[in-house]
Amino acid sequence: MAVAVRIAPSPTGRLHVGNGRPALVNWLFARKHGGTFLLRIDDTDDERSTHAYAEAIERDLAWLGLVWDRFARQSDRLGRYHEATRKLTAMGRLYPCYETPEELELMRKTRLSRRLPPVYDRSALKLSDAEKCRLEGEGRLPHFRFRLTDRPVEWDDLVRGKVRFEPGHFSDPVLVRADGRPLYMLASVVDDIDFGITHVIRGEDHVTNTAPHIELFEALGGDVGALHFAHLPLLTDASGAGFSKRLGSLSLGEFRSSGIEPMALNSLLAKLGTSDAIEPRHTLDELVAEFDLSHFGRSTPKFDVEELNRLNARLLHMTAFDAVADRLEALGLHGADRAFWEAVRGNLARLDDAAVWWRIIHGDIAPLIEDAAFARTAASLLPPEPWNHGSWAAWTNAIKGATGRSGKALFHPLRLALTGRERGPELAQLLPLIGRTKASARLLGETA
Ligand code: GLU
Repeated sequence: MAVAVRIAPSPTGRLHVGNGRPALVNWLFARKHGGTFLLRIDDTDDERSTHAYAEAIERDLAWLGLVWDRFARQSDRLGRYHEATRKLTAMGRLYPCYETPEELELMRKTRLSRRLPPVYDRSALKLSDAEKCRLEGEGRLPHFRFRLTDRPVEWDDLVRGKVRFEPGHFSDPVLVRADGRPLYMLASVVDDIDFGITHVIRGEDHVTNTAPHIELFEALGGDVGALHFAHLPLLTDASGAGFSKRLGSLSLGEFRSSGIEPMALNSLLAKLGTSDAIEPRHTLDELVAEFDLSHFGRSTPKFDVEELNRLNARLLHMTAFDAVADRLEALGLHGADRAFWEAVRGNLARLDDAAVWWRIIHGDIAPLIEDAAFARTAASLLPPEPWNHGSWAAWTNAIKGATGRSGKALFHPLRLALTGRERGPELAQLLPLIGRTKASARLLGETA
């Protein structure tokens, strides 16, 4: 059967790295197996969902390059969820309950104090029609629970191995709220069936949803044998703390605006928590070729922003001019060419930093002159143009001969005078870009 996966973000906040990772893993899995990738917006909670967040989710995924083959919005599919509730009611698997949240909390505490598992005790199942009428007459609107079977549920999780839940472990899940709105579990299972989802790959915070998910999937006529689950451990930050979408911590949008390359983030998220080495990759295709879900382990991976920054820099250092030419142009670096890019790329933490070196090469800088006499000598020895990669060696050899300086004492003052900076790209590459007029003026202490 053709592989079909989905990601199902709720538009209640920006995507962060913690949900970017399952998004990427689903996408890679689909591509690896020639399957389809569905983006489903789980927006049944219309109090907390917003269009703006839904649009931001689409933008963030597109930025990562995770193109979806299919798209669905749960708010468009309410009719299907109502059909499912009718079907479950007819089967006797959906039953009305009238407890208020306060009553449920009290029942939970009472059970805990008696050392009973804090699950719903199904007291609503015992209500007679007359009692239901009385409760409704009091103005109570029912919510609806799905009656679980009393069988154990198990599955072979593609990350966690065999998982088994004994009966009595879970409350019968509420599928429909008192105001008639379907809840996540119902909508999710109906969609997974309708879209022929074969693999549900998601965070391990959903492990406890999976047993009821399987039962509901089966009750609604889904082919459980063709449904597989993989629960990925949740990422923590470098200190071991979890992420929250609503806090916006480490959101994809923030990485994007801070100039992180999407492929740096993809390269990290595709390998974090696997046994594979984390290396910068230029294309998603390379990550698809290397992808294997069985390489994902159960231990909690740490997401370290510094690791991302290092990977971003390494990726830029390996990026060819043709891949960035348009972006350099868009930064306003008109005329930036291969020689410029190859001179500066090794010094960039972000692509935007190229503009800093562009200004150093073409703009006016305040040169730093430590020893004016030495700088004047150096200026007088500048060879005639045209310059090439060898000009630097020819020039510095001449200065060495004239002044007896070598090593840092020779090179460092030249760097300070020519660039106004302590560190930077190789001067052999920069010198021809700066050109003789500017180089000479800078050595003579003139702003140029
Ligand atoms: N809307 C759910 C969430 O954002 C989707 C979970 C799932 O993948 O089933 O957590």
